[in-house]
Order: sequence, then C-alpha cells, then structure tokens
Amino acid sequence: MSFTFPVLDHHVHLQPSGRNVEAVKEFVKAGGTHLVLSHMPYSEVPVRTADDFSKAFDITLRMAEKAREAGARTYAVVGPYPVQLLELIEHMPLDRAVEIMKGGMDRAAKLVREGSAIGLGEIGRPHFLVPDEVLSASNEILAYGMSLAKECSCPVVIHAETATPESMEDLGRLADSVGLPRGKVVKHYCGALIAPEENRGLFPSVLASRTLVQEAFSKGDRFFLETDFMDDLERPGAVLAITTVPKRMRQLLEKGVNESVLWKINKENPEKVYGIEI
Ligand SMILES: [Zn+2]
Repeated sequence: MSFTFPVLDHHVHLQPSGRNVEAVKEFVKAGGTHLVLSHMPYSEVPVRTADDFSKAFDITLRMAEKAREAGARTYAVVGPYPVQLLELIEHMPLDRAVEIMKGGMDRAAKLVREGSAIGLGEIGRPHFLVPDEVLSASNEILAYGMSLAKECSCPVVIHAETATPESMEDLGRLADSVGLPRGKVVKHYCGALIAPEENRGLFPSVLASRTLVQEAFSKGDRFFLETDFMDDLERPGAVLAITTVPKRMRQLLEKGVNESVLWKINKENPEKVYGIEI
C-alpha cells in the first residue's frame, strides 16, 4: 500500500524486548512513512540517578535507528517519563527525586541541541490521582522542561491527565509562565479537542481510534494522529495497532476527504510544530 502523501504516526514506542523492527516493517507495509518515537521507561535500565536517564535515552535513539533501517523516517523525543517520579520516591526523599528528574530533562535537552531528538517527551504529570506534594513537584519538573524547550526552540510532548479545556488551560498557563509558546505544547493521547476554545492553543495529538478520527476531521485540521503503540508483547491489544494510522488514511480517502487535508496533518503540521522537514 502506498499513498501520494506522507503518513505519520506521531506517538509510538518501541522496546528492545518487543517486536520493534518487525512492527515498523508492518507500519511501512501498510503505507506508513514517518514515525515520532517517544521515550518510555525500559525494564533494561532502572533509573536511580540522572545519568541513568542518558543510558535509557540511548535505548530510544537505538530503537529510532532500527526503525530507520526498517524503512520509516523516524524522529525521537526524549524526556523523563512523569510516572518515574513515583518510582524514585520509593527510594529517596521527594526533593532528591525532583533533582534527578530535572537532571533527566537536562540530558534530554542536550540530545535535542545535538540534533539526536526533536523534542522533550513524554513529560508532564501522572495521569492518575497523586498526593498534592507529588502533583506540585511534577508541575515544577514540567515547568523546568518547558523552559529548556523554550531555550532549544523545540516542543514538549505532554503526558498528563485526560485532556479537557480546563486541563489544557492549566498546562497552557504553565507554558506561559516560562515563555514557551502554547503551539509548542503537544498534548499526547488527546481527544478531538480541535477547536481553539477546547485546546486553548495547545497542539492536540489525537488517538487514532475510528470515532476520534471522525470527530477530529469534522472539526478542522490542526492536529496530529497517533496510536501510542506500546510494543509490549504481554499486552498486545492494550493500545492501537501500529498499522492504524495508514488504515485510517485509506478510510478517509475512501470517504472522499480532500487530500490537501491529509497533507496538512501528515506534513505541514509536524513541519510547523517541530521545525523539521518531512
Ligand atoms: Zn506514550
């Protein structure tokens, strides 16, 4: 299968213990061309110090290289995964854990400056209820990451609680406080919050389920599509298959969606948000 336009999945994970290369080959075979590969915690590298983050990010960069060899144009985003703060405070006081998470941000920003990654992600705050002190520590770490993103002129890819206009506004204010433009704040695992009053200027990366895709395209063209593919052999059905975005493209074409909109989603949007050339 091939398309006349690029086909980008804006948020996937690949794991050394997963199907990685084989999964990417499936994506390419289905017509996919571009991937934004997001860092995630790997069981191979437990993080106890800031330097451990560098070792873990190296795995993501290695996965990205493998994905390129498998035929997909692949970009990496790296950063300390928000839930890792909870893991760290099982072993140390909160203030030390915060320093380690910030150290992870520094190391991620270095990779962006060197050109090995195109953004900081996924960073943010736990998607479930946590004690107030953990939530405010998470916001402090996120604001620090946002300030580094401003310095590097790169986006942040946010992992957080379910996106609502209120939570988007809250994240937007955090970005405002450090001077990072709201258009550089990408909300991953987002619903179809396409209208400005819904996303408050943040950039939505919409989960490519059939219903969300339909809703998103009925509202506009300022968004990315993603599967959040986890490459987890033990939970193969936990998220969308890696072939989903190409499949949706075919369905949209069959429904008569204008190709110019598909060019916008897959090429112009990532070029604008990330400053890359698709
Ligand atoms: Zn993810």
